[in-house]
Amino acid sequence: MIRIDGRKFDQIRDVKITRNFTKYAEGSVLIEMGETKVLCTASIEEKVPPFLRNTGTGWINAEYSMLPRSTQQRKVRDSSKGKIDGRSQEIQRLIGRAIRSVVDLNKLGERTIWVDCDVIQADGGTRTASITGAFVAVAEAIYKLYSDGLIKKMPIQNFVSAISVGIVNDECLLDICYAEDSNAQVDMNIIMTDRCEFVEVQGTGEERPFSRKDLNKLLELGEKGNKELIRIQRAALGKIADEILGMD
Ligand code: UDP
Repeated sequence: MIRIDGRKFDQIRDVKITRNFTKYAEGSVLIEMGETKVLCTASIEEKVPPFLRNTGTGWINAEYSMLPRSTQQRKVRDSSKGKIDGRSQEIQRLIGRAIRSVVDLNKLGERTIWVDCDVIQADGGTRTASITGAFVAVAEAIYKLYSDGLIKKMPIQNFVSAISVGIVNDECLLDICYAEDSNAQVDMNIIMTDRCEFVEVQGTGEERPFSRKDLNKLLELGEKGNKELIRIQRAALGKIADEILGMD
């Protein structure tokens, strides 16, 4: 079956990672996955939350937001309602967990990295694109600390990326776009490291409970997609990637 945008069932959208996209943040990346576009920045703050003070350990915090006109109908800004909606809260916690899972916070020292993921244009998979882009922004920011001599040992232990998969019209598909997402019987977000280990799997069969066989198929698609994304992250990071992988 040919998909709505002409892709094969196991084909990811065109991915583009642009580094140094904005000027002020220590790490700044625009990630584009098809029509989904997210700006991910990583900012260093030389202090930690109270629960980590005097422990020598660092922290990574993530925030996620959709710009009002990132969606087909204008969406009211979280900040204008005075509180963050449940979906954004869930997504920002997911991004934080994913990035922390591959960083040794002891080696980071007592400082915080603020990860900000702002969706410029949404066409499905904004949380997974956020994670994939945020990793590159964080790697850039950490590398800056490392090359400035502020940290002695590289805190990044692995690469991490994320991709969505789903079942649409009873077919398992990789990297679902919004048109597919809105008809999906099952949808799942798979977060993995470069060692093909899972960091998190979020899956819902609200429209159609799914079998173990389906689950295996979806995981296999997720692994294929994440391998491709990590290759793209490595290419985007160039010599930083070599240093991350070659150092401890
Ligand atoms: N979406 C939207 N408005 C919203 C939330 C979602 O238009 O308030 C669209 C958007 O294209 C998004 C897609 O629905 O990418 C799927 O949303 P979901 O909550 O599954 O998160 P995502 O797949 O973006 O991580």
